[in-house]
Amino acid sequence: MQRKQFLRYMGAALGGAVIAPLLNGCVSEEAPSDTATPPTTPTTSTLSAEEIAGLKFMREEEKLAHDVYIALYGLWGKKTFYNISLSETKHTEAILALLVKYGIPDPAAGKPAGVFEDPALQALYDTLMAMGSVSEIEALKVGALIEETDIRDIHAKEAVTDEPDILTVYANLLCGSQNHLRAYNSALLQKGVIYVPQVITQIEWDAIVNSADCVEP
Ligand code: MN
Ligand code: MN
Repeated sequence: MQRKQFLRYMGAALGGAVIAPLLNGCVSEEAPSDTATPPTTPTTSTLSAEEIAGLKFMREEEKLAHDVYIALYGLWGKKTFYNISLSETKHTEAILALLVKYGIPDPAAGKPAGVFEDPALQALYDTLMAMGSVSEIEALKVGALIEETDIRDIHAKEAVTDEPDILTVYANLLCGSQNHLRAYNSALLQKGVIYVPQVITQIEWDAIVNSADCVEP
């Protein structure tokens, strides 16, 4: 961390162009170079325990969203669940790519749908499936609840990292969750249901549902 901060300071002092190659060499493991030595061990040591825990949690939380939506699509046949599940697949795979890059064991490896390493996420999955099995409206509320939970958790994980590649992925996850939250809110409104946020504040909820969709890369 200290070396990175020093390089950033020097970059600001000298101008980005001078220091950019140094910075790139520091953060990229696969910068093409004829003289590069082969990659040694993964860069786990550059991440804090909190950063690692954050990635492992988000890997499984995105899988949870995917698995719940696939199951709710199976129950209710509502296409919204299927469409959003495709986005969750991209999210959990984006986190997996970071786990691989940093040499962190994948908590979701070999786990079928609905099975999680984190006991809290396992309990959450079971609770959400019980709620979402009651009716299509309750299932849509589960979607809204998952998305507001994701938004809270992504913010919390963002707060404990300074790694640009991790922050970029978290920003994409956040963009997706806000889009999904708007989709579930619209579906509920079409059924005459005004959802009351359970996890984020009403102010934050209103700000999201009154914003335009963002575009994920
Ligand atoms: Mn997501
Ligand atoms: Mn989502």
